[in-house]
Parts: sequence; structure tokens; C-alpha cells
Amino acid sequence: MSLFDKFKPIADVRNELNRLGVTPFGAITEQILSATEGIVNGHRVILAGTNNYLGLTFDPECIAAAKKALDEQGTGTTGSRMANGTYAAHAALEQELADFFDCRSAIVFSTGYLATMGMGSTLAGPGDVILLDADCHASIYDGCRLGGAEVIRFKHNDPSDLEKRLRRLGDRAADTLIIAEGIYSMLGDRAPLAEIAAVKRECGGVLLIDEAHSLGMLGKNGRGVAEEDGIESDVDFIVGTFSKSLGATGGYCVSRRPELEQVRFAIRAYIFTASPSPSVIASTRAALRIISQRPELREKLWKNAHRLYNGLKSMGFRIGPEPSPVVATTVDDRDQAIAAWNELMNRGIYVNLVMPPATPTGDCLLRCSVSAAHTSEQIERILEAFDSLEINRDGQQE
Ligand code: PMP
Repeated sequence: MSLFDKFKPIADVRNELNRLGVTPFGAITEQILSATEGIVNGHRVILAGTNNYLGLTFDPECIAAAKKALDEQGTGTTGSRMANGTYAAHAALEQELADFFDCRSAIVFSTGYLATMGMGSTLAGPGDVILLDADCHASIYDGCRLGGAEVIRFKHNDPSDLEKRLRRLGDRAADTLIIAEGIYSMLGDRAPLAEIAAVKRECGGVLLIDEAHSLGMLGKNGRGVAEEDGIESDVDFIVGTFSKSLGATGGYCVSRRPELEQVRFAIRAYIFTASPSPSVIASTRAALRIISQRPELREKLWKNAHRLYNGLKSMGFRIGPEPSPVVATTVDDRDQAIAAWNELMNRGIYVNLVMPPATPTGDCLLRCSVSAAHTSEQIERILEAFDSLEINRDGQQE
């Protein structure tokens, strides 16, 4: 077997898609017209698969802050946080994140992937145990694997399975790293964090929650599911990203625990990569302020999310278990999913086509993410386009 034989199955799928004239993976956004519109693969489309939950990529305050930073501090830091890449603005953002989450300290990373991967791989090493929700994101899995800890999965969103597995660990439970997400990225379902926190209180463990898809959406201050569920004091580490509701790139970890500062200089994903550029840090700081100052964005996001979710549900599509800014329609046949994705493009709607192994259920998904920047008309156009699709409609209608 040659070094490259293992890539053949992936290449075969791509060749087949090319033959069909469909390019869902690696679609090119030729023009980005606004937070919700663009020209993708030659089609003028409503962007309904961007994770741009609050629509802040085109916010004037964020853009002005980024431009000012670009003028004053240049295009890049050209160095790691630990060497020449910590500017005053990186330190300021860390303080602002800590204040926002009412935590003791924060670490800023260059991407969300590096934040989750870096924390998972550093906190738990050989001899340690990680218990993670089976549906956790690839970056979490990668980190857990890299660190060399024993990795045990508990059933998705099943606190009693977590409890059973923690009890089996006996004395080791107290130092077991438990990992879950706030809102899950593929089906938009929310973690039962109150119950997970109760299990942790009862059996022990160190709890890390990835709020990548819930920052700016839930909780009185927009801090996510942990805030919404009133269990922030039970969470040891929160990780997340700047690339969704904050409209940039980068990641963070915040904690109430003093140990976060000891961990910082052991995280290879923090040490051995260049820090985010000044313009990214500046727009992220502006976006974080906006989350605090403009709760109406959250309200608009949920209004749009409910309308899309309820609309697709009433059409009989098989969608996630609860309304959420991530609304994914399950299509059990790959060819149907590809044809549906293509048809949506022809009708001016861009969504994410997600295929196994990236999907939790092994089915294909047409994944929409809703934005506060979508107008009601745009949401109706997305619904109309879905209504024209010839895919399974065997979902439960209320
Ligand atoms: N965690 C979760 C749950 C995610 O969905 C993602 C990205 N989709 C990440 C982490 C990584 O974030 P980023 O894309 O900003 O690197």
C-alpha cells in the first residue's frame, strides 16, 4: 500500500461530486456582499450556513476597530504569544474575556480549534482519564488523543451514562476531565448542563465546556448554556471561538481556577503558533462589547431560529430535537442530499452539506445556521426553497 492509497476513498467521493457538477466542499465565495448574502460558485445566494450568528462580520464598529488596529499595529504579529506575539491588545482582550465571563483569567488562542485541542491535550496526559460526550467536536477528540490520556466516551447528552462511568472510575473520578459542549454544532441540540454539573458535584471531576456555538446566544449576559442553566460555578474551564458569534478567528479559554495560569505555558498550541493579528483582536474586542451592549441581537437571532425551525418542522422535515440557531435537516440518502444541496444553490440558498463521518448519526445533513442579520424575508426564502426539495419528510410534526 502506498503512502497515498488511503486518500483514495476521499478522492473518489470528490471525483464523483465533480462528475455530477456539484462542489459543496470547497465551494468558492467569489464575493461576500453582506453578513447574509454572497456570490458562491457563481450563484447569488442567501448565506444560511456561516455560523455568523450575530451577523457581526459587517458590523461598522467591528470593522472600524479592525481598520484602526491595522493602521496602527500592522498586518500581523509574526510571532507566538510566548515570544513577540503578545501585544497590549491581546492582554486587554484576555482581561475583557475574564470580566465578561466573571472569571479569574483567560487565554487567547489563534483559533478555536487550537483552544479546544490545546486545552484537552494539555490538561489530561498519560495516566489521566477523560470522559467526553460522544458527539464532541473533532478538535476535542484530537486534543484528547494527542495528550495521551485514557479517553472514554459517554452517551451523547446522557448524564446518567456519565454518572455510571464516573462511578466505575472509583477514586480516579475526582481528577477525571469531563468534556461536553453547550450547543452541539451539527444538530443544534443543547447539553443538559444542569444535570451534568449535578453529576460532577456528586461524583467529582473537572468540567470543561465548549461554548463555541452558544456564546452570545444564551444566558442573561450572553455567556452561553452554563450561564443559562445557572451552573457557571461548577464549570472549571470554558473554551470557545471568535469565529462564530464574534465574527473573526481565534479562540479562548476562561476559568475561575488559578491553575489556568500554570497551564498557559504548557500548552503547545499556544506556544508554537503565531498569535492572532491585531485587526482580529480589535474586531473581537468590539464584538464582545456588542454582545453585552446589544441584547436585541440575541432576541432577533432567536426569532429567526424559531421561525426557521418551526417552518421546517411543519413541512415535515426531519430536524434536530429543539429550536436552535443551528437547524439541520437529516437526509438519509447521500445522492438525495447532494441533489438537494445543489437545488438549494440554484434557488439562491447556501447551506452546509455535511456527510458522514462528520455527522453524529451517520446520515447526511443540510445544516443551516441562522443569523441575527437575516431579515424575515430571507428566512421565508430559505423556507420556500426547502419546501421545493424532494427529500424525506418523515419528521414528527406537532
Ligand atoms: N469547537 C466546536 C464545537 C466547533 O464547532 C468548532 C468549529 N466548527 C471549533 C471548536 C473550532 O473553532 P474554529 O473554527 O474557530 O477553529
